[in-house]
Amino acid sequence: MATRRLYYDDSFARDFDARVLSCEPVVHESREAWEIVLDATALYPTSGGQPHDLGKLGDANVLDVHDAGDEIEHIVDREVALGEVHGCVDWARRFDHMQQHTGQHLLSAMFQERFGRPTISFHLGSEISTIDLRGEEPSDQILEGAERAANQVIFEDRLVNVRYGTAEELSELGVRRRVQRDGILRAIEIDGADLQPCGGTHVKRTAQIGMMLVRSCTKIRQDWRVEFACGGRAERIARKDFLQLRRAAAQLGCAYDEVADGVDRVISERDAYFKDLRGILQQLAAAEATLTLQAMPPGPDGRRIIAHVFREDASKKDGPNLPPSAAPEYLGHFATELAKSERTIVLLARFPCGHLIFAQHPDAGSDMNALLKDILQQLGGKGGGTRDFARGRLSDPGNGAKAVALGRELLSNRPTS
Ligand SMILES: [Zn+2]
Repeated sequence: MATRRLYYDDSFARDFDARVLSCEPVVHESREAWEIVLDATALYPTSGGQPHDLGKLGDANVLDVHDAGDEIEHIVDREVALGEVHGCVDWARRFDHMQQHTGQHLLSAMFQERFGRPTISFHLGSEISTIDLRGEEPSDQILEGAERAANQVIFEDRLVNVRYGTAEELSELGVRRRVQRDGILRAIEIDGADLQPCGGTHVKRTAQIGMMLVRSCTKIRQDWRVEFACGGRAERIARKDFLQLRRAAAQLGCAYDEVADGVDRVISERDAYFKDLRGILQQLAAAEATLTLQAMPPGPDGRRIIAHVFREDASKKDGPNLPPSAAPEYLGHFATELAKSERTIVLLARFPCGHLIFAQHPDAGSDMNALLKDILQQLGGKGGGTRDFARGRLSDPGNGAKAVALGRELLSNRPTS
């Protein structure tokens, strides 16, 4: 027996009485549940892009509602006796769906009528709703134009009617989308704006949509996916956006409408400071390299090997002639400056990050890349570079001292070429 769909003619029916025709145990999301068929229902099943309702049948909570051809199947969390039952619809959820769904009809109509962009599909999500438009990429002007036109129809508080007719009859009335189906079809008409076949639930007047907010537009395969929100969702999004704006304005110390300029200013200041800092680090590295080289004369073979592990703790100065601490970006500058000195080889590690930097003056005669690869192979890690400059990172940052000692040892076994 076909279930009578009460929501077809009264989408505002929140309570209803019906007869339980069957109640069978089923498994729903790997839990025990029951599947109920009624003679009539106001609970909407998932279909046409609109999610199912929630609600109650007697004491049982509705978990899901399926459209199974003529019948509608209600999945509930407990057994319900055959016979009379009182049902009710979770109204906040349903009204939200009706706002989004009717809004979708209206927005799709505006995109098509005003800008020649037909809607290919519609999705109503728990957070965002989307329509996919076909055609050229909609410009910002088109997105804003469709939003404004939809809001105009909302402000005019037009009637939303349910119409029935054959495909031919609806076609004569100017239906937007033709459906190849026999028998009587249901269509939703927004007075003077739209007529299209639909089995979903809708508000009675356009003012109940509340307002239309068009958000982003992204390319999905050959189409354009437009995010939108209506009614209560639009209100929540606008409030959330405002709180973000207020926070950004407070942090920047500017007015709301100056936030974008303020962010531009902060980013260019940051870039300028970064450039200054790099210059200062280079100067500092050159000065500290000079001091280090003065204090470390070459060895008996004429080579000077400077091997050191830097630690983050700046208070401990563990090498008498080396800077107490060094930021990771500083190490590269420092190594480069040291390696400007003839026959000098520099092996630096940093704790706790595990960075390694090996550098040499070209006439020192070793191969930094080969040396680093040897050490990383033994101790584990990644890295590489050229004959004169190589950098890497140890898998175990605690191995910095070992890496440096091993480097020294390998260099002494491989005299200058
Ligand atoms: Zn609809």
